[in-house]
Order: sequence, then C-alpha cells, then structure tokens
Amino acid sequence: MDFSLNDEQKMLIETVRRFIAEECQPLEDEIEQTGVFDNAKAQALHNKAKALGLYGMNMPEDLGGGGLSNLDRILCEEQFGHTTDIIIRRAFGNVYEPLLHCKGEQIERWLKPSIEGTRTCAITITEPGAGSDAAGIKTTAVKNDKGWVINGSKHFISDGEWSDFFLVSARTGEKEISMFMVDKGLAGFTVGKDQKMMGLRGTPHLELFFDNVQLEDAALLGEVGQGFKLAMGALNVVRLAQVGARAVGKASHVCEIMVGWANERKQFNTKIGDFQMVQQMIADSVIEINAARWMVYHAAWMLDQGMDAREQIAMVKVHAAETLGRVVDRAVQVFGGMGFCKELPIERYYRDARIYRIFDGTSEIHRGVIAKSTMKKGAVLFDVNR
Ligand SMILES: Cc1cc2nc3c(=O)[nH]c(=O)nc-3n(C[C@H](O)[C@H](O)[C@H](O)COP(=O)(O)OP(=O)(O)OC[C@H]3O[C@@H](n4cnc5c(N)ncnc54)[C@H](O)[C@@H]3O)c2cc1C
Repeated sequence: MDFSLNDEQKMLIETVRRFIAEECQPLEDEIEQTGVFDNAKAQALHNKAKALGLYGMNMPEDLGGGGLSNLDRILCEEQFGHTTDIIIRRAFGNVYEPLLHCKGEQIERWLKPSIEGTRTCAITITEPGAGSDAAGIKTTAVKNDKGWVINGSKHFISDGEWSDFFLVSARTGEKEISMFMVDKGLAGFTVGKDQKMMGLRGTPHLELFFDNVQLEDAALLGEVGQGFKLAMGALNVVRLAQVGARAVGKASHVCEIMVGWANERKQFNTKIGDFQMVQQMIADSVIEINAARWMVYHAAWMLDQGMDAREQIAMVKVHAAETLGRVVDRAVQVFGGMGFCKELPIERYYRDARIYRIFDGTSEIHRGVIAKSTMKKGAVLFDVNR
C-alpha cells in the first residue's frame, strides 16, 4: 500500500493551486458583491485556463481533454474547492461524462465543442415535483416523424444562463427515462427566473420550460430508456469530484484560515489558540478533513481499478459534505463576531457550504443507500478483506 503522490501528481496540484491563487481567488469578492461574474472577465479567465491545458481535464486526451485518471482528477477537484463554483465552471469546465455516449454527428455538434469549451452544457434532472425521487419526473419526450417532442419543466439548473445546451432527462415511456441534448433557442424552450440562493453567488440557478419543443433524432443521447442510468452514472462521478473532493478542499481552505486566526487573535493577553476549547475545534477539524480526504482518494482509486464504488461514493458524499459543514461552523465560532461579519469571507464560506448536504443526493438519501446496501451485502462494506 503506497500513499505517496508521484512527481507528476505533485506538479499537477501545484499548477492548479497556483492558478487558483493567482487568477481565481482575486475575482471572488467582486462576484460576491455584484452577484454576477462579468462576461469579459469570465472569458479571459477561461482563455488563460485553456491555454494552460486546465479545461476539461476529465475528458479523454484523444478528444482534446486532459485524459486524467479518476485519482488525478480528484487531486485537481480538491484544489478547485479553494475557489467558488462559478469560477471553477468558467476556468476548468463542467464537461459531464454522459456526453461521452455521443456517436456520429453528435461528436462534432455537442461533445467536442464541450471539451474545447466553445459550448457549455448544464445537467437538468430536477423538477419542482421530483428532486430526491429523480425517477419521478413528469417531463415527457414523445417520438414523432421528425424526432422527439419534449414537454415539461425543470428547476434549480446550475449555470443555466451561460449554458448553450442542456442534458435533459425525460420520460419516454411509463417506466422509461431517456436523455436528450436540448439546444438553447429552440422554439418552445424558454428559460425562467434565476432562483436566488443562500450562497453560491454568481452561479445562476434557472427554471426551464419545454412547450412542444421539437428535437431531431440526433438529440437523443445513448439509447432510448438509458437516461436514468446515464443521469445516475454522471451524478456518481459528480458526487465524488464536485462534492466530495471539493468539500475536502474547501474545508482545508477554511481550516488554514481558522488556524491562522487562532495563532494571531489575542484575548486575556493569550492567543485564543492556546485555549483548550479552541484547540478542540482545530483538532476535530484536522482529524475529520484527513479522514474525508482518504475516503475520497480511496473511492477514486477504486474507480481507476474498474471497481464498483457506488456505496463508497455515497459514504464520501455524506462524510465530506458534513465535515465541511462542521469545519465552517467551527471557523465562524473561532472568528467570533468577525466570523459573522461580511468584512471577512468566513460567513460566505459558511453559507456556500450548506448546499453540500443537499445537492447531488441529500445526506438522508445517501444514508438510505448505504444502510440498504449494508443490510444486503454485509461486512464487505465495513470490514477488511471480506
Ligand atoms: C444550489 C442548487 C443547485 C442545483 N443544481 C442542480 C442542477 O444543476 N441540476 C439538477 O438537475 N438539479 C440541481 N439541483 C437540485 C438538487 O439536486 C435537489 O435539490 C436535491 O436532489 C434535493 O431535491 P429537493 O430539493 O426536491 O428536495 P426533496 O427531495 O423534496 O427532499 C426534501 C427533504 O426530504 C428528505 N427526503 C426525501 N426523500 C427521502 C427519503 N426517501 N428518505 C429520507 N428522507 C427523504 C430529503 O433528504 C430532504 O431532507 C440543485 C439544487 C440546488 C439547491
């Protein structure tokens, strides 16, 4: 068992870390204050990241991506956690794995432009009546002689404003869900309001409405009836990368700032970090961050071995998201009033962290998956060499 990082991995981490510190973090305050990421600045950031080969790193090399293994991708995603959602989207991309099911003309129309960063895509599964129950969607796609006609609506769609097309899950039969690539601007496809959120300032979360939207046959991604599998497959990787690894990165970022404050701030003529109750908050944070990190790396390693890591990723989703929540909560406490005050970014980290327990499957849903699998499979999920 070798826990060391090789030289290439260390260099990858350093490159992403430096890019985030020099190019991304300086943009955060303005986005937080205005609530928007200025288009020209977003494009300039995108161009810089692309020139360094940092865009679409999860995609295969022969298609123009970075060709990273799951573990190497996770090392980058952990660093992404040191900046904000909308900045990550523009700099590094959100090229969803289901797009790799593109065939024939779909490759030039949707897949390659996504990897190149000339087209952006959002994933749309959630509906007002179907969140945790992703199979309970009401949006339908009905076959006609020109292709498919979509009707229905979605909500909470991250980055919908910037996106050029959408991966849309729709019911194609009573018990059948398929996935479609729907271009913005098609007749009958309208974008609703931006649903304002507690955090993640700068990332729009949109409602989408489909009113008899005519799609070509080429818009069907994968096979008819494969949509639920594609959506769940995509979310599995998203949970590990964009939730698990980023939560570890965010918690590390906040912990470092918290430790710095504990070392500087004095009360009663004593560094507050010398008070045992503050030390406990630091120690618990460090213990939990390390535990979460190794869970993330292990699940990524399992994927690289071709193993089924669904339960391990569910465990990562719960543990990393909840670790982040506890660490940012302690950071607010250690900063005292300044932790609550908008003059410092601590209160922003606190608000931004809250969604991690909700999106991409709530903690309750994942605990249900873990418990049911454990009752079925037994000790293989918690004991060694079983
Ligand atoms: C900021 C943000 C960004 C998002 N981005 C996207 C996106 O880009 N694309 C997309 O498709 N969706 C997106 N979502 C949707 C997100 O994935 C859902 O909000 C999430 O899956 C929860 O669904 P819900 O909000 O409908 O809650 P509900 O499913 O209504 O759940 C409400 C509560 O009931 C609990 N609950 C539900 N079922 C069970 C059960 N079986 N057992 C125990 N407890 C249960 C939940 O855990 C929760 O506590 C986003 C949401 C937010 C807030």
